[in-house]
Formats: sequence, structure tokens, C-alpha cells
Amino acid sequence: MTSNDPTGADDTPDDATAPWGIPSSVERSAVERFLAHAIQLEAEAARRYEELAAAMQTDGNAELKAFFLRMAHFSRLHLADAKARGGFRELPKMAPEEYEWPEGTSPETAEWAGVDAQMDAGDALRLAIGSERRGHAYYAAIAASTTDQELSAIAREFADEEAQHVVELEKLIAARATA
Ligand code: ZN
Repeated sequence: MTSNDPTGADDTPDDATAPWGIPSSVERSAVERFLAHAIQLEAEAARRYEELAAAMQTDGNAELKAFFLRMAHFSRLHLADAKARGGFRELPKMAPEEYEWPEGTSPETAEWAGVDAQMDAGDALRLAIGSERRGHAYYAAIAASTTDQELSAIAREFADEEAQHVVELEKLIAARATA
């Protein structure tokens, strides 16, 4: 797996053939657990952005559609990065119940239930920025609260990337407001 695979085709977080799969009885490091969560989070974020892009069907939403596809691409790059890092160690294949999310679901996917083809562009953007802010808060909270220095550094990097996504969305929302 390279970190710049533009197709991002392999985004399945629980791929049964994953080379890092280890029995669940093996004790996991904090970094391994973090990467497993990050992979899940980014895979879901990418899928959701693709749903948003698909919902933007009118000509007037062409720019937004392209933007959401770009965000999906970023999420897949982030996902590939997390996988590549995991490749250096025994990244766990975790069962669904082993994930611990702040609100019971991965932070970038909350509130996405209403996505459909009639979705208004403004609603889509609000959904996206809420998702990015939760993703950022999730990574930042881990960076700030852990005593594991390696984990803190990795979580901080991931948080910084989410902060960039928030900024991109804020710029787009501002540009649309003045258009
Ligand atoms: Zn993001």
C-alpha cells in the first residue's frame, strides 16, 4: 500500500486479508488502537463525501460536487497514510464492539442520515463542516490527553490535517456567502 494511491480503491477498514491482522487476544499498543480508529474514521468520511458528491446532481452544484470528491480523495489519502503507518507494526483487526467512539459512532459520520439527491448545497456543506470539526476534536482530544508521546505526536498530526479540512470548508462557505 502506497500513501499516494489516487484511486483509493482499497478503503475497507476490516479487510480480512489485511497483513497486519493479529488475534484479538494479543495486547494492543495505544498507537495501534489509535490507527485502527483513524482507518475506520477516514474510510467512513471518504464514503460520506462520495455520497455528498453524488447528491449534488444539478449543474449549479458542479463546483460543490468537485469539492466533495476532492475531500473524499483527501480522506482516502489520510486513510492510506494511517494504513501505511500501521504496516510498520502489527495493526489490529478490531471487532466493531472494540471501537470506542465519543458518541458511539465514528466522529466524522454523525448526522449523515439525511443525505439524498435533493439535498441543498448549503446543508451539505454544514454537514461536512460539522463532521470535520468532530473529527478534529476527536484527534485533538487524544493528542491532548494521552501520556504516550508517540501517540500524542501522531494524533496531533491527524488533528492538524482535520483542521486544514475545516479551513477549506470555511473558505468555501464564505465564498458562497459572498457570491
Ligand atoms: Zn477530514
